[in-house]
Amino acid sequence: MNDYYAILGVARNASADDVKAAYRKASRAHHPDIVGHTPQAEDKFKQINAAFEVLSDPRKRELYDRGVDPLAPGGGQSANPFGGFSGSFAGFGDIFEAMFTAAAGGAAGQAGPASRAARGRDQLERVTIELKDSVFGAHREVSYATFLTCSGCHGSCCAPGTAPVVCSACQGRGVRERLVRSLLGTMRTMDPCRQCQGYGNIIANPCPDCAGQGRVRGHTTIQVDVPVGVDTGNRLRLSGKGEAGPAGGPSADLYIEFKVKRHPDFIRDGDDLLATLPIPMTAAALGASIVIETLDGPREVGVRPGAQPGQVVTLEGLGAGRLNQKTRGDLRVQLDVRVPTDLDDSQRELLRRLALERHEERPEAHFASTGGVFSRLKDKLTGK
Ligand SMILES: [Zn+2]
Ligand SMILES: [Zn+2]
Repeated sequence: MNDYYAILGVARNASADDVKAAYRKASRAHHPDIVGHTPQAEDKFKQINAAFEVLSDPRKRELYDRGVDPLAPGGGQSANPFGGFSGSFAGFGDIFEAMFTAAAGGAAGQAGPASRAARGRDQLERVTIELKDSVFGAHREVSYATFLTCSGCHGSCCAPGTAPVVCSACQGRGVRERLVRSLLGTMRTMDPCRQCQGYGNIIANPCPDCAGQGRVRGHTTIQVDVPVGVDTGNRLRLSGKGEAGPAGGPSADLYIEFKVKRHPDFIRDGDDLLATLPIPMTAAALGASIVIETLDGPREVGVRPGAQPGQVVTLEGLGAGRLNQKTRGDLRVQLDVRVPTDLDDSQRELLRRLALERHEERPEAHFASTGGVFSRLKDKLTGK
């Protein structure tokens, strides 16, 4: 069983305010938007949320103190794995406040019968998109498996024309009083009613479509707007598009996580796109205008006379989109000057004449002090 007190770092007799303060601190310190979305970080954050879910709810905390983990499978609602962080589209402060309010909202203690209805669980769907879709935005149809509110009973759990009947054992109160004799005298304790599991009523005629659950497994399809500038790993939250809750409970949220497919020509670098353009040695020496196919259609790359290998030509505004902005980054084209390897006799003769003309037939040896391919390595080695 998880030690929820240790996870939040509070004593077993911590007050509700202590628990709240410890949770606020721990979830800020371990929020995946801050420490990174690694599986470990998300797991830690999940544990913190589970600990808070249990310790902030007097009912669950009492159960837990008696040795029952209310979040264990079959023991109640499991902690939701994606709750809390709503992706990278809003400021962190807003997300945190929203998350905290949501988490604290469910924490009020209650007496009387429990409700069958509960919020469904959030879910995550991964969607792969083309680079072009992330640059220009797109509409995508996304189909996924989820829980849907039962159409046979509309979430009431009861067969058509029937209704839950009041539990005769507890008269609908959901709890039974018990007197326990101990050394200190007789004490009165309240236990959930066993006959109705604390609900106060019994579904005598369960809906046949959902076996009395109020929801069924199914598929649904939604239209998703792919935001301009979205990148791999970005998440979009669609509220109310996750699992429908049991017994007519509210639907949870759906998170869409995007993966941008590799493009054969362009690599994304933040807001920019990078490409490598091979050009012949002669074009580099003489200059040229080369038409390339960009995501926006054909565009001209101007190669200045004397262009060097590795030189970058920037095409402004033809890069990747920026989230929540109208502007785009640049397309940076790196020139890859190719030296011919298949010269025929007459071409070899031409080059030889050129070398003679330029007194380059016997190149002099002196090392370049800066700018060579090894210069960065050299700086590293000499500590410059
Ligand atoms: Zn039903
Ligand atoms: Zn009962």
